[in-house]
Amino acid sequence: MADLGTEVRYVKGIGEQRAKALQKLGILTMEDLIGWFPRRYEDRRAVKTIAELGADEMACVSAMIAEVPVVSHIRKGMDLVKVRAVDATGVLDVTFFNQTWLKTSLQRGGTYVFYGRAEGTQNRKRMASPVVEPEGKQEVTGRIVPVYPLTAGVSQLILSRSIRQGLDACAEILPDILPDDIRQKYQLCRIGYAYENIHFPESEEALSLARRRLAFEELFLFSIGLRRLRQRKEAIQVPPCKDVDMEAFYSALPFSLTDAQRRCIDEALADMRSGTPMNRLCQGDVGSGKTMVAAACVYFCVKNGRQAALMAPTEILARQHFAGLAALLEPLGIRCALLTGSTPAKEKKATSARLAAGEIDFVTGTHALISGGVEYASLGLVVTDEQHRFGVAQRAALAAKAEHPHTLVMSATPIPRTLALILYRDLDVSIIDQLPPGRRPVETYAVPSSYHPRVYKFIRKLAAEGRQAYIVCSQVTENEEQPDERKAVTKYAKTLQEKVFPDLKVAFVHGKMKPKEKDAVMTAFAAHETDILVSTTVIEVGVDVPNAAVMVVEDADRFGLSQLHQLRGRVGRGKHQSYCILISDNKNEETRQRLHVMAKTADGFKIAEEDLRLRGPGDFFGQRQHGLPGLKIADLGCDTKLLQDAQTAAEDLLARDPDLESCPAVSGRMTQLFTQAEGALN
Ligand code: ADP
Ligand code: MG
Repeated sequence: MADLGTEVRYVKGIGEQRAKALQKLGILTMEDLIGWFPRRYEDRRAVKTIAELGADEMACVSAMIAEVPVVSHIRKGMDLVKVRAVDATGVLDVTFFNQTWLKTSLQRGGTYVFYGRAEGTQNRKRMASPVVEPEGKQEVTGRIVPVYPLTAGVSQLILSRSIRQGLDACAEILPDILPDDIRQKYQLCRIGYAYENIHFPESEEALSLARRRLAFEELFLFSIGLRRLRQRKEAIQVPPCKDVDMEAFYSALPFSLTDAQRRCIDEALADMRSGTPMNRLCQGDVGSGKTMVAAACVYFCVKNGRQAALMAPTEILARQHFAGLAALLEPLGIRCALLTGSTPAKEKKATSARLAAGEIDFVTGTHALISGGVEYASLGLVVTDEQHRFGVAQRAALAAKAEHPHTLVMSATPIPRTLALILYRDLDVSIIDQLPPGRRPVETYAVPSSYHPRVYKFIRKLAAEGRQAYIVCSQVTENEEQPDERKAVTKYAKTLQEKVFPDLKVAFVHGKMKPKEKDAVMTAFAAHETDILVSTTVIEVGVDVPNAAVMVVEDADRFGLSQLHQLRGRVGRGKHQSYCILISDNKNEETRQRLHVMAKTADGFKIAEEDLRLRGPGDFFGQRQHGLPGLKIADLGCDTKLLQDAQTAAEDLLARDPDLESCPAVSGRMTQLFTQAEGALN
């Protein structure tokens, strides 16, 4: 009998070939398969007669093929199939591009269901490239249809058929890990129903029940995981740090710290003196000066005779931190080193050896710091910067490492307090709610795309003054299911270089580039070897180029508020007045409101709250950059109340059964999650 760990190729009706295709999506087991949730849904329930079809309306039509389909070759690589379909009320001309097989498969006299956008006039109705299926054998018309995230070579139909097979194969064995009493108390549907309806919703109500159930389960497990993590940590004893005179550090700084920075430092130092490992999240808006909080902790730790490590999510950030911090800390007698993926092997070896021998006090780097064979003589503190790149899994794994260093996590993603409390139960939270004095807010404007010429002129003017510019484009291309960021970015950069700014240097960077290439581009931009950087949101995190004074965001409505705020935070970091220009033609009232919020306020926490209010946590989570560990719920949607319920349920359960003896299924899931987390690190 099948279980959830069964490989998909053994599932009846899937077979080797399809299994290979699914593997490209990372779907290996039955569990992966049924857990591959739709990204969205298309309501294809509306069925109309041809006469009823309104212009521009999306609908299903059931019609008979009246003539043999005609194929015409338009140009190279472009064939058009034309079909005339009729029902009792009228005629519909249907065209398909490059689907020549339809010529033979669409039978004259047969009745088919077409789903697509109606075009044309009242007397001449058309549909271009609709979905088509024989009537009576409908899979993807006449119902609410799931739309899955895809990759090349796997179609929606293959996926939804495979998932259908998968669900049929495991309907009987799906484990309901939620205890019955919890399910009843929070009125959650059974797991089988949930999986069935998340994939093939009977109705909107059924879909919403399914979502609610799956979201609850995920958050429930998440809460239990965090609680346990915290309990594990609290049980750990470490030698308390001694007090250190911090004056030497403070007076080495070129500025005085803000009260908020001082408070965060005090809180962190108190943790390190307490005798249990520090687990602190330091949240502060972009530019609030989190690095100095880290530096103070590093100083404190090293003066206590232990080593400190600072881990950044990218090479460029690591290098930036190293440059700044070594300049500050070396003169204070702290021996610093840099260790990243691109450090030459020989140097890496030498640095590792010195770390192991205790000849380096402070090392800055990327993942390389904790994963490879790097050993420390006496690691006392791990700081991770921009923690949203490291999920709860990594946190768990790090905590599970034998050494129990103090950990400080710095996040530039303001998360509304209510959410932070729920989501970071395993961490203590410090908030830097104050910016260093004298910052000039970034002037922010929302404009339609007809302003492009003016925007370009403005960039040119600033470039003439010696400034640099970022231009961010969204990753949208014609093919929405498979956005190709590479194409969008390179194409736009090329146009700008050739047509708009032939005399300036335009560079580009996108997420598909190798880290080394990315770094090279960023480094060149930081050194002002290029003037304009076209990119996707890869630049949203942490990068510090004080000379960049303008951030242009194309299709700004495609981004979440918090993400826009992050992007805006890339400018206004130097002494120059900086600008953020949000370009959008979207006239939707809510969208306009959102962009208006950006223009109106510079406070990241307010923006995050507004984001939450306008879009709800479902969408808020949907932005992976919010630091929430890859919860699939991202795509499922949920509300704050549900989050709280799941949290309460988890706490109640742990209160009466701390070792989860009554729910082996939950306990088993936890073990699995922790093991995965450790695996993810190694
Ligand atoms: P973030 O919180 O975004 O990581 P950084 O630590 O990069 O912010 O600090 C942003 C800039 O502000 C840096 O150039 C830093 O030197 C400067 N800075 C930090 N603290 C202060 C302060 N108290 N007064 C003036 N400038 C400061
Ligand atoms: Mg930072």
